[in-house]
Amino acid sequence: MEPTGVIFELRKYTVHDGPGIRTTVFFKGCPLRCRWCHNPESMNPGIETIAASNHRGCPPPSEAENRETIGRMVSVEEVLREIEKDTIFYDQSGGGATFSGGEPLMQADFLLALLNACAEREIHRALDTCGYASWAAIEKILPRVNLFLYDLKLMDEAEHLRYTGVSNIPILNNLQKLSGTGIPLIIRIPLIPGVTDTEENLGQIAEFIRPLKNIQRVGLLPYNLLSEDKRKRFGLPDRLGHLEVQSAEELSRVEDRFVSMGYEVKIGG
Ligand code: SF4
Repeated sequence: MEPTGVIFELRKYTVHDGPGIRTTVFFKGCPLRCRWCHNPESMNPGIETIAASNHRGCPPPSEAENRETIGRMVSVEEVLREIEKDTIFYDQSGGGATFSGGEPLMQADFLLALLNACAEREIHRALDTCGYASWAAIEKILPRVNLFLYDLKLMDEAEHLRYTGVSNIPILNNLQKLSGTGIPLIIRIPLIPGVTDTEENLGQIAEFIRPLKNIQRVGLLPYNLLSEDKRKRFGLPDRLGHLEVQSAEELSRVEDRFVSMGYEVKIGG
């Protein structure tokens, strides 16, 4: 029997999740608890209901009516049907499908089935991962992945634990192993003001990736203010408070650091 999975969104025509025009499938469930999470709807692996962000109409809906369901159970066939609708755009733009989340590796069987189905149809496959998974789980899906979008957040283990709830050791070890496989990598760095965007942390990331092979690009992800509102709606504790987004000059300084190392850099992906 084909495995089923839980996703919270299937987004068409994305242009920041790998090359070309893509369809991005957002899996539900994440092993991390980043204080800045921009996708809090992805954390819980199950289908859930939360208070809707706004309501229209008079009289206003009751509390029970004013709820929004996050997540849905889907089959491989159902997701594939949606992905396949845009094959013409993938072919013209060099795009494909991206599996993101949350953490897709938390639903490894479903992920593998989707990767296999896309591979059979020669659809390009990118995996957006936080890297927190067993190497055995990554090895299983490796042959089916064309590109990894790999997040690096904090290099200091204690700080990583403090801000994401988990150690960064498996994440760093997996990235070193992946760099030896020949599969292209895009390193993505969320720039959280005063947390991940410090000189010290960015310097350590730069030194860590310097010897790695197959890095196609460094993606810088500026802080997203909308995530503050989203976290409130999901009832997550506001332990970061309000943060100011980086100025254009600050972003350009970070960009220069990686450009001077010879990397292609893209802000926003
Ligand atoms: S890894 Fe991504 S999805 Fe998971 S908690 Fe962190 S920011 Fe949210």
